[in-house]
Amino acid sequence: MKFDANCIFCKIADKQIPALVLFEDQDVIAFLDNNPVSYGHCLVITKEHYDTFLSCPKEVMHKVFDVAQRIGQAEIKSLGAKGINILTNCYEAAGQSVKHFHVHVIPRYDAPDGLRLEMNKYGETNLPVLATKIVDGLK
Ligand code: AMP
Ligand code: ZN
Repeated sequence: MKFDANCIFCKIADKQIPALVLFEDQDVIAFLDNNPVSYGHCLVITKEHYDTFLSCPKEVMHKVFDVAQRIGQAEIKSLGAKGINILTNCYEAAGQSVKHFHVHVIPRYDAPDGLRLEMNKYGETNLPVLATKIVDGLK
């Protein structure tokens, strides 16, 4: 099992640092974010250390998203959330601050909260050229 002694989420998984745990099994642990952007904001992480979603083996990545789905469903049911954002930041350029794969489950209500997500067009793009590049990357 990969463990990074300098990683705060490894320490949470190893119970060296306390957290409000919502779910736990052999591979995955979910806990409340301690600086929440909405009521019920939580994190689902692998117990083993992987830097990001992009470097996580598929089987355990699927387990993380399974737990994220269940928590999202529970938050609609028990907290009266009206919506849920599922978010995983990969690398600093995308806003990742803790370099251990985690999925944010962020309940949304018909009320202001701390999450700001905007999707504005950034400029003109040659879409066929772009598509070719990405398809090449899939090979
Ligand atoms: P990210 O910016 O995607 O890396 O998000 C990291 C998240 O981890 C932030 O929302 C932090 O509030 C949260 N976080 C950092 N340390 C802890 C901790 N000890 N317990 C719970 N949540 C934490
Ligand atoms: Zn870690």
